Amino acid sequence: MKTYWRLLGYLRPVSRYVVPFFLSSFFGSLFGVVNFTFVIPLLEVLFYDKPLNVVEQLPAFELSTQYFANLFNYYLGYFLQTKGKLSALQFVCAAVLASVFLSNAFRYFTQRILEGMRADLVARLRDDVFRNVVHLHLDFFSNQRKGNLITRITSDVIEVEYAVANSLRAFLKEPFILIISFVILFSISWKLTLFALLFIPVSGLMIGSIIKRLRHSALNLQAVLSNLTSVIDEAFGGIRIVKGFNAEGYMQEKFHKENWQYRHLVRKIAFRRELAPSVSEFMGVAVMCGVLLYGGSLILIEQSISAPLFLGYLAVLSQVTKPIKEISNAVSSVQRGMASAERIFELIDTQPAVKEKTGAKELKAFEKEICFEQVSFAYEEGVPVLNDLNFTIPKGKVIALVGPSGGGKSTIADLIPRFYDPIGGRITLDGMDLRDYTLKSLRARMGIVTQESILFNDTIFNNIAFGMEVTPEQVEEAARIANAHDFIMALPEGYQTIVGDRGVKLSGGQRQRISIARAVLRNPDILILDEATSALDTESERLVQEALNKLMKNRTALVIAHRLSTIQQADEILVVQQGRIVERGTHESLIQQTSGLYKRLVEMQAL
Ligand code: ADP
Repeated sequence: MKTYWRLLGYLRPVSRYVVPFFLSSFFGSLFGVVNFTFVIPLLEVLFYDKPLNVVEQLPAFELSTQYFANLFNYYLGYFLQTKGKLSALQFVCAAVLASVFLSNAFRYFTQRILEGMRADLVARLRDDVFRNVVHLHLDFFSNQRKGNLITRITSDVIEVEYAVANSLRAFLKEPFILIISFVILFSISWKLTLFALLFIPVSGLMIGSIIKRLRHSALNLQAVLSNLTSVIDEAFGGIRIVKGFNAEGYMQEKFHKENWQYRHLVRKIAFRRELAPSVSEFMGVAVMCGVLLYGGSLILIEQSISAPLFLGYLAVLSQVTKPIKEISNAVSSVQRGMASAERIFELIDTQPAVKEKTGAKELKAFEKEICFEQVSFAYEEGVPVLNDLNFTIPKGKVIALVGPSGGGKSTIADLIPRFYDPIGGRITLDGMDLRDYTLKSLRARMGIVTQESILFNDTIFNNIAFGMEVTPEQVEEAARIANAHDFIMALPEGYQTIVGDRGVKLSGGQRQRISIARAVLRNPDILILDEATSALDTESERLVQEALNKLMKNRTALVIAHRLSTIQQADEILVVQQGRIVERGTHESLIQQTSGLYKRLVEMQAL
């Protein structure tokens, strides 16, 4: 229930939606039920010469069903007696038309308001999820599988949308129909109505027990669906490898397994869901039969109710099962929907591990140095990745990190823009802990180029500008520095060329130079280059390295390099192994150490 109220919180201000919805659904329901009572005068006109309920005087106005019934009967009697049966029939038909018109007009307005509510709620919910998720720490995206995230933002939201729309309609509209119907039923015959009412709790209990178990299965269903999405994402994302390793069968098997588990759950839930309306329909008809028997005896034996009245009564009673059915359906779809809503709120409530302190300061300028002071870090408790690191990156210098893979180099690089925070020690920038600066101002000082260049399916221009307000001249200037201008101009549409999904239409070296242009444009004080040339062939590497050298000129840089030839000029080289700095110095000094790790690595690469 708490989840449900929280969802409705997205319809703020509630009064803007609920009041018009309430009014229009009240009148829609009123005329909807009244339509069925016209069976009574219709039969009276066809089979009798005067209304069974003769009203001689125009009744005085009061707000009650009796008043409206008397008013109608007064005119019906008037037409029957003074103008004949045909005009009375015309009068009844005109009244039916007016009532049907009104009930449908109100129904249309109700539906419009409802759809508006539904669309607003879902859009706000999605915005909220996305807003929170993009601000979460990097770790979140590696731990949680992407498929899981995508299902939550798409299919879970649809599930919620469905549940909310159904339930609002059912809870705000159907009770009116029920109440109005019962008011009319009681006013026709309280005996029959009491009799009919005996059946309702019985069917309610039966349906309730069916629905109760739906919720649990629904939770599982969404979990399995997200596995399914993950498999699809993995298979298609890595289709080159899948094909290359003849692993289509393997992936297919994986997909098949998840898919059939999904099928199993879908069936289970659907079978149960479908049971509810069938049971309630059967119960409804059983009530009708009981009433028919009992009412029939009232006509045949007691003669206490007229046939037209009884038929009108049955017509209205037949409409009572529909709202009950709708409400029970809505309860079951709410059960499903709330399972999804909980998954969505879990995302919205996840707190980023890297948070900004209240009162954090703006980083205005980078003046002196970045210092690692006894820094240690672990992704998972008890598995240290970095131990007691101490080093300084002075302004204007290039510091290189080298060493065997898995040693912790990328992790060190990730600590500087605060993708993660150290668990021991601290990192300072100009003497102040990184955690005391605002995240935005800190990251604005940094330019990051990684091994895998990340481009978005957009124009080259937008990929370089990437959200900054810049002129074409500035973008071109950046592209020139990044050695990218010439190849961009050779493309058919120049800077307006769309690069395709993740930049597939460009070569690795081209993509990398666009990433560099993006970093150049930001004119960062501090550069972080994480194996920026490792994935390239020799020719592209030369072009990219040239671009990087231009970019690094007069800047502070932390460079992670696999190919040691590219960092020989670095001001200091740190050799990192198993989370510790095992050697440090310039290329010349390190190469002197006869049994040093660096010397060994250089010799291996020379071969
Ligand atoms: P390098 O850049 O030197 O190759 P990394 O910094 O990438 O090394 O990795 C250091 C260690 O941390 C490795 O043992 C790696 O398995 C582990 N590691 C890296 N990223 C994660 C992560 N997101 N979760 C858990 N462990 C990780």
